[in-house]
Amino acid sequence: MKTQVGIIGGGPSGLLLSQLLHLRGIDTVVLEKHSRDYVLGRIRAGVLEHGFAALMREAQVGERMDREGQIHEGFYIAHDGIRERVDLKTLTGNTVIVYGQTELTRDLYDGRDRVGGIVIHEAEDVRPHDVVGPRPFITYRRGGEAVRVDCDYVIGCDGYHGVSRRSIPGDRIREFERVYPFGWLGVLSRTEPVSPELIYAKHERGVARFSRRSPTPSRNKKQVPLSDSVDDWSDEAFFDELRRRLPGDVAAAMITGSSIEKSIAPLRSFVAEPMRYGNLFLAGDAAHIVPPTGARGLNSAASDIHYLYHALADHYTKGDDAGLEAYSRRALARVWKGQRFSWWMTTLLHRFPEDSPFDRRLQDTELAYLFSSQRALASLAENYVGLPF
Ligand SMILES: Cc1cc2nc3c(=O)[nH]c(=O)nc-3n(C[C@H](O)[C@H](O)[C@H](O)COP(=O)(O)OP(=O)(O)OC[C@H]3O[C@@H](n4cnc5c(N)ncnc54)[C@H](O)[C@@H]3O)c2cc1C
Repeated sequence: MKTQVGIIGGGPSGLLLSQLLHLRGIDTVVLEKHSRDYVLGRIRAGVLEHGFAALMREAQVGERMDREGQIHEGFYIAHDGIRERVDLKTLTGNTVIVYGQTELTRDLYDGRDRVGGIVIHEAEDVRPHDVVGPRPFITYRRGGEAVRVDCDYVIGCDGYHGVSRRSIPGDRIREFERVYPFGWLGVLSRTEPVSPELIYAKHERGVARFSRRSPTPSRNKKQVPLSDSVDDWSDEAFFDELRRRLPGDVAAAMITGSSIEKSIAPLRSFVAEPMRYGNLFLAGDAAHIVPPTGARGLNSAASDIHYLYHALADHYTKGDDAGLEAYSRRALARVWKGQRFSWWMTTLLHRFPEDSPFDRRLQDTELAYLFSSQRALASLAENYVGLPF
């Protein structure tokens, strides 16, 4: 097989890039390890920056997002029995869209189908080759058949556990990492959410987050020790614990129900630098991971795709390689800002087991300062709605 851009990974990053390039007349092949149903079964992010929403529209897959997604003009931080609002719209003039990653991925697949895009599922043993030379290629197996895809560029959109980053020699890549001593237990339930807007609840027993995915399902999460497993938490025990972490009036209004999905995600900050090795470019979770506290994961992936899409379009339509040369530097500058914000939100709201009484007083003071200063709140809001690309 021959293509211009070979993309490894059919998650949001890979699909969005292939769709945007296709619309500029650039040929792509996406190789995805899992089946389409498997990819669509993953329940993950749900808060989209306005810049990401604009990219979805540019990719001609934003129609359902604009129809069914919910525009959120603010969110709440609950602490010490009260609830305080961060008014994103007033502070920044911008908003976010709450629209599940599963729905967004479905729209991207539909978009790829409509224009005849090539997405090969259940591609086994995918491997990039000769990426430092002028003729890179990718190999994979499917149904016993070995296939080779020749391309100009290989794009690694295959997530944190993918093959692309791992194929770069250790002395050509540097990894930065922080592993947090807790995880988030997430439960999706078909119940009316306790609030139309997201609530982050800081509590001495750990943080909890309440959000919605579409008009009905609630997506609630709470901090748990890494030693906990999903089996430790019946639906009843989960909702009882959530009630404890909410202000009384909100806890009283909470409607509980049986879970549709339940999982624990460990919290980790991770960045790999540079995001280019020869003609292999990394994008999204393949190069960086954030704890979900600041809702930056999917949004940071989208900013990589923005830079890479424009860089590749300039290469193929104008013969201009400046964007490709600058890609890693530009993408990383924004990635690190997302890392900083996610780390800050995580340290602001979580209970760290090793924290001293002094650390806890500082954490309380950080929150008190935030809600006493419009400038501090504006900084939070500016990061939450998304810094400019
Ligand atoms: C449990 C969980 C909860 C999350 N919650 C949030 C949240 O609340 N808010 C938020 O902003 N972000 C959240 N995230 C992060 C967000 O989902 C990711 O940032 C986003 O999915 C990144 O998209 P991606 O396409 O770069 O990577 P992925 O979505 O990981 O897609 C990578 C794709 O590559 C495929 N692949 C992997 N290896 C190979 C291979 N060897 N060959 C071929 N294909 C391969 C995978 O099957 C996958 O489809 C969460 C992530 C997880 C794991």
